[in-house]
Amino acid sequence: MLHASDIKKLAADAGFDLCGLTPCRPLAQNEAWFRAWLAEGRHASLGYLERNTDKRFDPQRLVAGARTAVVCAAAYKNPASEGYPDSHRAKVASYACTTDYHTTIREMLAGMLAALQREHPGLEGRAFVDTAPLAEKQLAVEAGLGWIGRQSLLVTPRFGTYVLLGELLLGDEADAYDVPFAGSRCGRCRNCIESCPTGAIVAPRVIDAGRCIACHTIEKEPAAEVDLDGWIFGCDRCQSCCPHNQKAPMQTNPAFAPAFDPLTMTPGQWLAMRQEEFRTRFGATPLTRSGLERLQENIRRNNPEEPYSR
Ligand code: SF4
Ligand code: SF4
Repeated sequence: MLHASDIKKLAADAGFDLCGLTPCRPLAQNEAWFRAWLAEGRHASLGYLERNTDKRFDPQRLVAGARTAVVCAAAYKNPASEGYPDSHRAKVASYACTTDYHTTIREMLAGMLAALQREHPGLEGRAFVDTAPLAEKQLAVEAGLGWIGRQSLLVTPRFGTYVLLGELLLGDEADAYDVPFAGSRCGRCRNCIESCPTGAIVAPRVIDAGRCIACHTIEKEPAAEVDLDGWIFGCDRCQSCCPHNQKAPMQTNPAFAPAFDPLTMTPGQWLAMRQEEFRTRFGATPLTRSGLERLQENIRRNNPEEPYSR
């Protein structure tokens, strides 16, 4: 039997700001909503989302024998999370301003798992950071961390949406589980829906990925052209406008300290950059996911008329 309080202490010691536990069980209602979203073709070019839907909403299908899901969240709000002036035409989503969270969070979870396995020899466990089909936002709601906002992201009462998630699926039961987060604290607010530059939030909690700038700047190019609104990697527009983010504290964990300041970088600086400089300055950040050429292509799409100089 695992002790929930021990696991939460390990999470805090590892640097996580939030941690909740939920038993592994099918999330049937969420799966039904997701299947309806897929049937409407809202996933656009993100074909991988069509695969493993049964596993995505049932941790025990993803990992046989999983009993307990530990959902951890690290707050990452930094100056870029507060938004950009309208005139800025080289905007980067604020999660991408720091070391790639896949690396950081995986190390934090690995340390937790190793400590648990020392305490409980034979304990089976696997860590997940956004790379396997696992409905992590919905699990976070089940683990009591927050609710799904109208922009379809997890909103936590203290840190808003600016949290990075990681999960442990463990093969033993815990002595206590968290109560699922009930309801929503969005109230009458519709800021995210109204702020989206492309109308990608077609209804509360329904995103049309084919219109979403985050998808257009990073993923395989969807068929339709959209105005990137100055974004060159990701898009925070439906987050920086959220009142829960506006009152959230800046992160203080050195592991999530910004590696660069996109507010001070001009389109010309990005275009003049060479691969070696890109690797040196941004090699540890998520920007490597799209690469310098794609960033520069996005700069040109955002700034077709501008002359460039360093
Ligand atoms: S990330 Fe940007 S484009 Fe996508 S839904 Fe949010 S505001 Fe709209
Ligand atoms: S911007 Fe408003 S509606 Fe959107 S998630 Fe935040 S509180 Fe909810």
